[in-house]
Amino acid sequence: MLYPCPGCGALFPSYNGPTHRYIGASAGCWALFTWDLKLGWVVDNDETHATGLVGKSEVPSNTRRLTIHVGKDDLLDPLLGDAYGVQHHGDDSPQAVQSVALHLLNLYGVISGRTTRPRWPMDRALRVRGVFRKLTPPSLGAALTIRHLFPGGGVVAPVTRSQYVSSVYEEWMALHRSIVEEWYECYVIADDVVPN
Ligand SMILES: [Zn+2]
Repeated sequence: MLYPCPGCGALFPSYNGPTHRYIGASAGCWALFTWDLKLGWVVDNDETHATGLVGKSEVPSNTRRLTIHVGKDDLLDPLLGDAYGVQHHGDDSPQAVQSVALHLLNLYGVISGRTTRPRWPMDRALRVRGVFRKLTPPSLGAALTIRHLFPGGGVVAPVTRSQYVSSVYEEWMALHRSIVEEWYECYVIADDVVPN
């Protein structure tokens, strides 16, 4: 029995593992993501379990024929966590809304070429709180998922981290480009932001 991750739609078996407080990923999806990042806080046997998840999980049926926009370079690899954070948008809580906005501003700043510093937009936007609003996510399964980085489960040719980042970014910007550009001007570029 497989269940869709509420953020990306990738299909995972029931998995007894930790989830993030406001990043809206299923336990299986979160385990695969953190294992891919090789984060130190994947403990005990979780790594073995996470690698085992690859063989038991699948990509959503509607993403199997997605067009991949960027080549096989690795320019966007450092933005993997930002893309994952945006895609797994979570609920309507202030933390979740703020998290999506900050990660999307990071993606926009670097991918649009407005900055070369990956964390700079986020650090600037952290000067303000409570100014962002919930963005309606793209339909579930509209973009590539973290599961597309691994073979099998509907994946013929695994994608690169950068291709995943680009796919998530394009889907969100297609819906929200004007508000993201406005936020970037108001809360990242502007120097007269009143900290709170
Ligand atoms: Zn997911």
